[in-house]
Amino acid sequence: MKKINLTEGDALIITNVQNDLLPGGRLAVPAGDAIIPHLNDYLNAFSKQQLPIFLTRDWHPSNHCSFTEFGGKWPRHCVAETIGADIASDLKTPNYAEVISKSVDAETDAHSAFHGTQFNNTLQSKSIKRLFIGGLATDYCVLQTTLEALRQGYQVCLLEDAIRAFNKNRLDGIRAERLMCTKGAVPITFEQIACIASSPTATA
Ligand code: ZN
Repeated sequence: MKKINLTEGDALIITNVQNDLLPGGRLAVPAGDAIIPHLNDYLNAFSKQQLPIFLTRDWHPSNHCSFTEFGGKWPRHCVAETIGADIASDLKTPNYAEVISKSVDAETDAHSAFHGTQFNNTLQSKSIKRLFIGGLATDYCVLQTTLEALRQGYQVCLLEDAIRAFNKNRLDGIRAERLMCTKGAVPITFEQIACIASSPTATA
């Protein structure tokens, strides 16, 4: 197996691992919490090298257009300043990690972390070239963030062991993965990362 060395220019992106998207939440991704130990492995590897880490979150006003009561297709979720919008407390996130809030206006819904944010400028200012993308959900925020990153010219490593799909339709997650890889994302698992041994976690 070819090992991947983490290096300057790499950044870890964790999309939408928020309470409302986890089991028990208002818009739970099935078994979404199963990725948290794997995300913690990546967090550990990136923080050991002090490489940039970004956590994206939906940060909706209470009258957001994506909510069914306002004509959208999702139940009310991730309302700003509520516990449901909090990033999962089980994630072992270093203090220097940055949070990117998206879909903060009532009128716009964005699955991509680049949409309506300064994210691209932030990455450019840190000379980021390669993004390691994991989180929730494979068929929405991971998909759109990855496709936009590829369009913007970033290399993308898709964290296959640290993503989960909604699968509203049974094959949505598989289709999304296939599309991301067709467009140039490289699927990887944590075993491929060359780094100082991290604390062992259960493997799914
Ligand atoms: Zn949302």
